[in-house]
Formats: sequence, structure tokens, C-alpha cells
Amino acid sequence: MTGTSGTASDEPSGTANAELTRRWQDALMDNYGTPRVPLTHGEGATFWDAQGKAYTDFLGGIAVNALGTAHPAVVRAVSEQIATLGHVSNLFVAEQPVALAERLLGLAGRPGRVLFTNSGAEATEAAFKLGRLTGRRHMVATQGGFHGRTMGALALTGQPAKQEPFLPLPGDVTHVPFGDADALRAAVTEETALVIVEPVQGEKGVVVPPEGYLAAAREITRATGTLLVVDEVQTGIGRTGDWFACQAQGVEPDVITLAKGLGGGLPLGAVLAFGEAAQLFGAGSHGTTFGGNPVACAAGLAVLDTIQDEGLLADVKRTGARLRDGVLGLQHPLVGQMRGVGLLLGIVLTESVAPQVQQAAQEAGFLVNAVAPDVVRLAPPLIISEEEADALVAALPGVLDAAAEAARTEA
Ligand SMILES: *Cc1c(COP(=O)(O)O)cnc(C)c1O
Repeated sequence: MTGTSGTASDEPSGTANAELTRRWQDALMDNYGTPRVPLTHGEGATFWDAQGKAYTDFLGGIAVNALGTAHPAVVRAVSEQIATLGHVSNLFVAEQPVALAERLLGLAGRPGRVLFTNSGAEATEAAFKLGRLTGRRHMVATQGGFHGRTMGALALTGQPAKQEPFLPLPGDVTHVPFGDADALRAAVTEETALVIVEPVQGEKGVVVPPEGYLAAAREITRATGTLLVVDEVQTGIGRTGDWFACQAQGVEPDVITLAKGLGGGLPLGAVLAFGEAAQLFGAGSHGTTFGGNPVACAAGLAVLDTIQDEGLLADVKRTGARLRDGVLGLQHPLVGQMRGVGLLLGIVLTESVAPQVQQAAQEAGFLVNAVAPDVVRLAPPLIISEEEADALVAALPGVLDAAAEAARTEA
């Protein structure tokens, strides 16, 4: 296999990896299927497995590890915070959630209010509830959109296969084709509480809407007094080369949801609300025990500081373009196109062999994600170096050839 030494310790099926996988299968629920190779530690954009094999990380724990693994700023912030004030509950005030909320509103550039959650799905749930508090019930989301797995978030997620086993879901939600402003205009009325949309549909396969789509959504929702919720759980916090993807398009939503990259690996989500939307929750209307936990918020502050101090937004744009150009420059027959923004990229294949590409890349020492049958997602840490990006590009022809060969053998 390309790029591996082929020694026994390089094989994910080797003893230490196999043992941890077997224990996982016995003790954990099967909802993820059996995960891939067991990882034991990491540093920067490198992970190591139970047998000492190294992998360059082009997935970032699914667009989470903005600063990679074990970044000194996050390690320091979390260590100092847990040693000082770990958890207080929302019955008390702590400095860290206040400071992080102020920072996020500052980055958004508008006055507003913040609710902290522990995940993206919870951020969506909170947005759903804000919608209900407008007194309207109807909601509009997009086909193929992903907003999380809890029941309210799932109702907004436009992926019928994920919804089906759990029907009925809270209603009344209309799903319109993503990127089609006319369809959106036709669906949104003065009865519509909210429209929720991603700047880029990450889980659907890094699908980028036509230019002007978010701006059209803003104009449509403003006309009907409908909340515009932009789900930036995947695109936010620098992933696209801006703090928020909607900002780059000059769009000011009523609500922005965040999670993934915000906590630098700690569970942390946030709902940013502006204008009247910021006033919808009153005392007692919503809550979460862990939301705004000082340790998670300290990590969030370290992430924001580091992105800012190290000028990572510019790096994201530059490295993202370098990856895109590098992959296209290979002119490999399996590569159809590259899509995405910044360091949220999809390699669109000409055949449905993304799972085989994922596997071949892993054997070659690179972690990538088959997000759709014909799309390989790259969402590396924002700190990924040009050398690491170039190494993936250099390995890709061999990886793609091996994937094609594996697909032929399986057929
Ligand atoms: C991952 C994701 C979510 C859900 O976040 P969880 O933390 O997994 O609950 C919601 N919206 C988008 C756009 C996402 O990518």
C-alpha cells in the first residue's frame, strides 16, 4: 500500500488496535458502527494509533480541533481553569462565559446576547425554541441540511433517512431545495417563525450554494418578520477563513449557532442572537446544567485568542487554496472537482469510491472523511502547515489509484 512500510505494527488490524476495537464493540452502542483505527494521542495535526503509527489529520475530529491536538494555549487555559474554578452552574456568575460571550459578540460586530450549550444539536434546539417563542409555528429548512440529532434539531435536518425511524418529529417544518432562493421565497410566509440554513452544507458533502443565496434568505425573512438562523456549527470560528461565513457575505442573521470548532476539542456550543431575537428567552424559559461551563469557555477563549494572535484566518484561506489547487493540479481521473470554502473542502470524485479513498488514505497515514459516497471531506485543524497539505497532495495519486483498485476487487 502506498506510503506505508507494510510492517505488522503499521496494520490497524494489529494486536493493540484490534484489542481496543474489540472492547469498544462489547461496551459501546452500535450507533456509530465500529469506528476506525483507535487513536491514543496527538500533537498539532498528527495523531498516533495504539501501535504507534502516525496519521496526519485532515478531519480535525470532524471540523472540531481548530488548533489541532494538545495545543499549548488550550492545555494551559483548561489546566489553569479546572484547577481554579471548574463548574459553578448557571446559578452563579463566572468570568469565563461572560468574557467569551463578549468576545463572540465583538467578533460578530453587533450587540446581542449569547446562550452557551454543550453541542451543536443543543444550539439548534435553542434556536428552535426561540422560533416557537415568536408565537409562530411554521419553520423552513433545507433539503440535505444537517442541524443535529436531537428531536427538534432532527425535525429541521433535511435528511429523511435520519428522520424516518423517529417520526413523528416536532413540526411544522417545510424543507426546500438548498440554494434555490425562489423556492425559499415561495415557502416563507408571515406565519413562518424561522428559516434555518447553513452557509455550506458540510454533512451533505460540502455543498456550496450559489452566490447571493444567504443574502436572499436575509431579504426574504426580513420582509416577513421571520427569524433567519444561520447554522455556523461547522463553518464558524475560522473554518472558512472568516470568523463567521455569513459575515464574509455581509449577511446579518437574527441568530447564529456555533459549536464544533469553538471549544478547541471541549464540548461547547453557542447561540448568538441579535435584535428582538436576543430578548425572546426570559428567566426560566430554557436552560442546561453544563452550558457555559468555565472550563469549556476558557478553552473557547484560548481558541479565539490563538486564531487572532497567530493570524490563522489568513492561513486558512491560503492553505485552503493551496490544497484546492494542488488536488486539481493532479488532473487525476478520479477527481471531478473541488468544492468548499477555506479549510472546509470536498474532493468530488467521478466514481462513488469515497469509502475506499478514506481507507487507502488511512493506510498511507492520512485521516480524511468519506462524507458522501462520492465526496471526500477535508476539514483539517486550522493550524495545518503548507508542508502537511503538500504531503497529502503528493500522496493522493497513489491513494486514489489504490482506492480504484480496491473498488474493482470488491466488485
Ligand atoms: C455537526 C453539526 C451539527 C450538530 O452538532 P453536534 O455537536 O453533533 O450536536 C449541527 N449543525 C451543523 C451544520 C453541523 O455540522
